[in-house]
Amino acid sequence: MYILVINAGSSSLKYQLFDMTTHDVMAKGLCERIGIGGRLKHNGKAKFEADIDMPDHAAAIKCVIEKLTSPDYGVISDMKEISAVGHRIVHGGEYFTEAKIVDDEVIDLISECSALAPLHNPGSVTGIKACISVMGPSVPQVVVFDTSFHQTMPMRSYIFPIPYKYYEQYKIRRYGFHGTSHRYVAAKAAEMLGKCAKELNIVTCHLGNGSSICAVKGGKSYDTSMGFTPLDGLPMGTRSGSVDPAIVGFIGTAENISAADIVTMLNKESGLLGISGISSDFRDIYTAANEGNKRAQLAIDILAQSIKKYIGAYAAEMGGIDAVVFTAGIGENNAMLREKVISGLEYMGLGIDSKKNNQHSDAFDISSADAEVKSLVIATNEELMIALDTERLVNS
Ligand code: AMP
Repeated sequence: MYILVINAGSSSLKYQLFDMTTHDVMAKGLCERIGIGGRLKHNGKAKFEADIDMPDHAAAIKCVIEKLTSPDYGVISDMKEISAVGHRIVHGGEYFTEAKIVDDEVIDLISECSALAPLHNPGSVTGIKACISVMGPSVPQVVVFDTSFHQTMPMRSYIFPIPYKYYEQYKIRRYGFHGTSHRYVAAKAAEMLGKCAKELNIVTCHLGNGSSICAVKGGKSYDTSMGFTPLDGLPMGTRSGSVDPAIVGFIGTAENISAADIVTMLNKESGLLGISGISSDFRDIYTAANEGNKRAQLAIDILAQSIKKYIGAYAAEMGGIDAVVFTAGIGENNAMLREKVISGLEYMGLGIDSKKNNQHSDAFDISSADAEVKSLVIATNEELMIALDTERLVNS
């Protein structure tokens, strides 16, 4: 079975075609500048890159199908070989606790959640509609949500301590994001530990340009660091993470700027970039810190301490932990940060082996021989998870 995974934004569309027998990616690519020109980057039988007119998402999907079936660049001979399409959706609000096969009601509910993710959900809906129009109604479309994994959190984890009416009126609550990644690496961790997910308490650390941490208890999300929006929690590339909310009022008055402008500053000019003044990219920060830049070092210290705090907090919440998992760009690749996070937590049963920590592979154990709580590095694969959900729903 071949499954196409789509991640559509307002002007871009990423795709991967999976062979579900081997879980291999047969082809992948990116459509950019949809609606304002159009550019296709495709990697299949051969690489292709060119400007192609894409006035809308339907045109982009047509380009993708054409390349996937092209004798020179493609990997299949007919669109009919694609059994189903899986779509990544950022926000499912409280409506979606799991992946779903698309029908009119599902599309309406995703559109309703656009108020909660105005930059993401409208593009996804456009992507789904484009696939239906190009591929026809007989090809099942499945939606997989970044938020749905976290719908199992107990109320005490997701209700903010502000007047309850705001939850009732506007659904202001902790939703959490990166759910597909947390779910994937938690399941892989259970596999690596040779245990059933139901028996395990795991802290999964998704550390990328956007970062979040999740307390996974018995295979389910129990608490997570991102909140109503992906601005909450850890300091990220350009996002502040959690800060004292009174800062918004103070800066607003001091500089005579609106709350919306301050939220933009917290989203785009803060985090690693804001602290270091150098870059939002961890590699740049790491290089600068090694060259003696004090603010770059401070950014790393703040990030590591913040991760440590969540590990401690989630261990306390879950009544102990069996493993900590590092994933995403920084978590998978930066041994120094992993060591900084884990060192000092030996009293909790954690411990790191520096030699093992310096390996590189898709999944490896970096724990010291005497560590009772394991530290693991697992490459996330949200696209494969979406393909697996799609396969399961289509076969059921
Ligand atoms: P992601 O959002 O998962 O793509 O992760 C992006 C972040 O991972 C950026 O801050 C990158 O600097 C960081 N990153 C990617 N590769 C490496 C690497 N080899 N070493 C350290 N950080 C990396």
